[in-house]
Amino acid sequence: MAKILDGRLMAEELLLDQTRRVQELRQKGIVPGLAVVLVGEDPASQIYVRNKGLACERIGIHSETIRMEERSSQDEVLAVIDRLNADPAINGILVQLPLPRHLDERAVLARIMPEKDVDGFHISNAGKLFSGQQGVVPCTPKGIIYMLKKGGVELAGKEAVVIGRSNIVGKPAAILLLNENCTVTICHSKTKDLTEHCRRADVLVAAIGKPRFVTADMVKPGAAVVDVGINRVDGKVVGDVDYEPVKEIAGWITPVPGGVGKLTISMLMENTLEAACSQAR
Ligand code: NDP
Repeated sequence: MAKILDGRLMAEELLLDQTRRVQELRQKGIVPGLAVVLVGEDPASQIYVRNKGLACERIGIHSETIRMEERSSQDEVLAVIDRLNADPAINGILVQLPLPRHLDERAVLARIMPEKDVDGFHISNAGKLFSGQQGVVPCTPKGIIYMLKKGGVELAGKEAVVIGRSNIVGKPAAILLLNENCTVTICHSKTKDLTEHCRRADVLVAAIGKPRFVTADMVKPGAAVVDVGINRVDGKVVGDVDYEPVKEIAGWITPVPGGVGKLTISMLMENTLEAACSQAR
């Protein structure tokens, strides 16, 4: 039976450390600040934004949520970003995605100062990650690596397969695994013989957005299985991995809920703390 990589527990441990670090910063007169911009009324986004605000509160980070109407114009959203870029009380800016369809997501993300881009989605941070330079690393992929290492999963030389090639999860997760000296395969909706690829994986990351897509026959015995998916089925949240049967053959597995999602928020706090420290310098 797989060892459970317990995101809740890991996040609680990190929270203690982060609370201590925020206190130390406050004693030096530095109050880390995070602004979250939410445009529209998407119910899932409302929950994510609330959880981010709560995490800030728990560790002592100053947080602001800027709620904008669904019909806000591109110029209005950009004006808010400009104001936050110039605000010394704000070290990190996060625009909750997805944005309403009429807004240009790329242009909005590009407007955030790269140093305040705590999501790591700005093209400059993506470029740094790709070219091996120090920049802000996206929270979910950063959390995935944290969980694997904390759980004692050896990465160097291992076969890693990432299902999904989004800019926010799949691609950056693949680069981080490559940086850990894994041999990495990225799979997507056009991949042929997906099962064959998956069965070779010592580390299997599922970031697809399809409930229970990864079944037990796709998993190599003893593999570390990381489930990024958040899907709502009959009012319940389930991952991209068919958890119960896969748990029986995997070596490690992340649950949903209580897995990667928890670490995503922890890493957002981490990126905000790092931004506050580097901006204070
Ligand atoms: P996207 O929809 O942007 O990407 C999904 C990826 O899955 C695409 O690359 C797509 O391929 C691939 N895919 C879809 N169908 C198949 C298939 N049948 N076989 C193989 N690959 C397939 O999603 P995200 O990356 O943004 O998110 C993925 C999941 O992770 C979602 O459930 C999301 O809610 C969750 N998530 C969780 C977070 C957390 O904190 N735990 C954070 C962010 C996301 P193609 O490119 O060819 O279309």
